[in-house]
Amino acid sequence: MSDYLKSMPDREGFFGNYGGAMLPPPLEPHFAEIRAAYDKLSKSGDFLHELRYIRKHFQGRPTPISYLKNLSELAGGAQIYAKREDLNHTGAHKLNHCMAEGLLAKFMGKTKLIAETGAGQHGVALATAAAYFGLECEIHMGEVDMAKEAPNVTRMKLLGATVVPVGEGAKTLKEAVDSAFGSYIAQADTALFGIGSVVGPHPFPMMVRDFQKVVGLESREQFMEMTGELPDIVAACVGGGSNAMGLFSGFIDDEGVALYGVEPMGTSSKLGDHAATLTYGVDGAIHGFATKVLLDENGEPAPVNTLASGLDYPGVGPEHAHLQSTGRVTYTSADDKESLNAFYELSRREGIIPALESAHALAFALREAKNHPGKSILINLSGRGDKDIDFVTETYGFGE
Ligand SMILES: *Cc1c(COP(=O)(O)O)cnc(C)c1O
Repeated sequence: MSDYLKSMPDREGFFGNYGGAMLPPPLEPHFAEIRAAYDKLSKSGDFLHELRYIRKHFQGRPTPISYLKNLSELAGGAQIYAKREDLNHTGAHKLNHCMAEGLLAKFMGKTKLIAETGAGQHGVALATAAAYFGLECEIHMGEVDMAKEAPNVTRMKLLGATVVPVGEGAKTLKEAVDSAFGSYIAQADTALFGIGSVVGPHPFPMMVRDFQKVVGLESREQFMEMTGELPDIVAACVGGGSNAMGLFSGFIDDEGVALYGVEPMGTSSKLGDHAATLTYGVDGAIHGFATKVLLDENGEPAPVNTLASGLDYPGVGPEHAHLQSTGRVTYTSADDKESLNAFYELSRREGIIPALESAHALAFALREAKNHPGKSILINLSGRGDKDIDFVTETYGFGE
């Protein structure tokens, strides 16, 4: 196993200065139970064997790498490749950790999965895992998001989940997190909280990274097989940071591979117009762990904005804050406009409609390619864009 991955995080869940677990006292014993269970299961042949079986026979792994020939020609310079997480069952990388969380719940003897969801992508993936394992599923979602993302609400209900509407405050993600956590505290004896990215209190940032690592391990092998070399540049979009940590995990010990995280710059670099936490954030804490956060003038989490609702978070996974501080990963950004352009170009020139989140990584590749003639760029195409087509075409048309 990778030297880096073995050494991070420490026993308390710290990646350098970031991470840890700041828990309300009633949750401390439950998180101790999760840590102990994961310590044991991550070394258990039965757990890993079943996870491998699920990845192959239910999720459809390994997902391929595609060479984006037409886009590489358009960009001029580096050759661009995409890891096709859009071809994972349910259409995004999120199922990689949701299936593992479901399996963890099963091994722990829990009967229910609880989580919040913003745009509904995490809720759908977790509801899928719950259906597979015969677990109950309770998803908290703001009423504003429920109206905006009605098809995902329908999907979750078809999959057998209970969707709890949250009517407090702005009726979006933050309120949904509070509501889901409240419900989890009341049911933690029988339920597991299913966190949707490499965020939250220890051990979730580590577990979710471990569950997403399959993306990076497959990619390294596939890229070598395709080209005989390692990629020069590896890039992924960063919301909470799970698809990026998954891909980076495969290359983190390869010093010759440059790693780039791409944050959403929204409509401008003014606070409130973007969600570029690592670019503009400060050291702080959010949702029970230490990381970089975007704060408003009162020291509260700032409002964030991006076309890609899956990147809409004023915090970021603690491991990314650490990797930024060590310089191993460079964090940059793509704004709404160039990401939308990348969305249209990949659709029209390659026959792949990407999620708006993934379009941020692609926008970076298109912009950067001309600076690296003869080199290669591998991006994580974290999800498919079916969920975005109505919004994009109704708001912006079909692109010129
Ligand atoms: C949720 C989501 C993301 C953002 O989450 P990360 O944890 O940053 O990976 C990116 N792409 C897609 C398709 C998503 O659904």
